[in-house]
Amino acid sequence: MGIIVCQSCDATIDHVEDEKVTVLYSTCEHCQHEKEKFVSELD
Ligand SMILES: [Zn+2]
Repeated sequence: MGIIVCQSCDATIDHVEDEKVTVLYSTCEHCQHEKEKFVSELD
C-alpha cells in the first residue's frame, strides 16, 4: 500500500494499492485552493 501525501501540509490525501510501500507527493484540495487563491490575488 502506498500513500499520497500533501507536500504543503503533510496531510495524507489518498492511498494507492501497490505491492511495496511508497510515498507519493501531491497537493491536497485545501492547499490547491490556497495556491489558486494566492495566484489570483497576485494577478
Ligand atoms: Zn495540504
